[in-house]
Amino acid sequence: KPLVLIFIGMAGSGKSTLVDAIRLSLKANGKRVYTINLDPAVTYLSYRPNIDIRDTVNYKTVMSQYTLGPNGAILTSLNFFATKFDQVLQILEKKTNMDYILIDTPGQIEMFTWSASGQILTDALASSFPTVINYIIDTPRSQNPATFMSNMLYACSVMYKSKLPLQLLFNKVDIIPSQFIHDWMNDSDKLQSVLDQDDSYMSTLTHSMSLVLEEFYSTLKHASVSALSREGFEQLETLFEEGRKEYDEVFFPLMEEMK
Ligand code: GDP
Repeated sequence: KPLVLIFIGMAGSGKSTLVDAIRLSLKANGKRVYTINLDPAVTYLSYRPNIDIRDTVNYKTVMSQYTLGPNGAILTSLNFFATKFDQVLQILEKKTNMDYILIDTPGQIEMFTWSASGQILTDALASSFPTVINYIIDTPRSQNPATFMSNMLYACSVMYKSKLPLQLLFNKVDIIPSQFIHDWMNDSDKLQSVLDQDDSYMSTLTHSMSLVLEEFYSTLKHASVSALSREGFEQLETLFEEGRKEYDEVFFPLMEEMK
């Protein structure tokens, strides 16, 4: 069965760019790749997805027809798409010769992670295929400890909410190496020494959070990549396959138990 890779991350973290780059890289390695775009509001994609939510729902029409703002229109479009997702699954079920199904999600992360339809789509995929969530982190922006910490908390909440294997992709390492993040994850004192430079409430909170998250970090798999330069891409297939193994060994049995 193909492995479903769902790409999520904060707006601008590089989801679409990364999905396209990973698609090309996997193809170059002889893998068969299928792509799905779930962002109804994206205006430009550098690749042509095999299945595109924009072919089914017109976000601009939804906005004017139901007098909705941009966020409401994205949610409503996702809801519409969720009602037709059984047809998507039927198509996917026939793609037995595919190795990977890459899923690009809406620019605003919460549209997918905290919406009923996002959960429905994720659950539908995960009950039919081995599914792994790839959480993309903007490495240059993470230099701010508070940004880094909120991103990690978000990743943690997504993992517990989706109940699926979650892997971190530190993107944009062509701009700055991700070593500082590994240092912060492996040794909370190193993060503390940066936080010591300011004694605000935020700094104290961030330090407490880092202690709480140590347990989460210890189980987490990650890779440092650049969608632009494609550095780090050589580790990706191994990472994805580890995710597939985790799904098979831990998540699939749990799902069966809950049925
Ligand atoms: P999305 O909103 O998460 O889908 O992010 P996009 O894929 O639209 O990327 C946001 C911006 O980051 C774009 O201007 C990309 O060109 C840029 N970007 C994405 N990946 C990289 C990367 O690895 N390195 C650099 N330098 N820029 C990147």
